[in-house]
Amino acid sequence: MFSRIFNFLIGMMFIFYGIFALTLKKINTKPGMAPITDLNFGYLWLIAGFLLIGFGVAFLYLSFRSEKRIKNYPLFLRCVGCGKFYNFSDVKENPICKACGEKLVKEDEYENAINQKEAERLRAERIANGIIKPKKSKRKVKRK
Ligand SMILES: [Zn+2]
Repeated sequence: MFSRIFNFLIGMMFIFYGIFALTLKKINTKPGMAPITDLNFGYLWLIAGFLLIGFGVAFLYLSFRSEKRIKNYPLFLRCVGCGKFYNFSDVKENPICKACGEKLVKEDEYENAINQKEAERLRAERIANGIIKPKKSKRKVKRK
């Protein structure tokens, strides 16, 4: 969050300098103080102006890009079966563990996936031991 504000301020600064360069053909790098960079030399003001605005837009993009887009590309995926880590770029086409064949999930989904898998395993065990009965379809059972 903090870096977003920082990127936004930097972006705005670059764009302001870019506008100064394009309109006044000079940049006042320290407002209120002396050093003014004179750009009225050939097309220098034009080049500098567009470069500065380009930098500004890049920083604004960094500050406004969606959180979701960042989260869609995790660095690592983790196997639900054996806990092995994989580089996301190595397995993004086919997120299946090469060691045990289980599915791979993002690190923040790992706990949930493990808990769910454990719950399924316990349920299967209880069904096997006859402690609980497997879920039946919604067919009504007639009693006599
Ligand atoms: Zn595995």
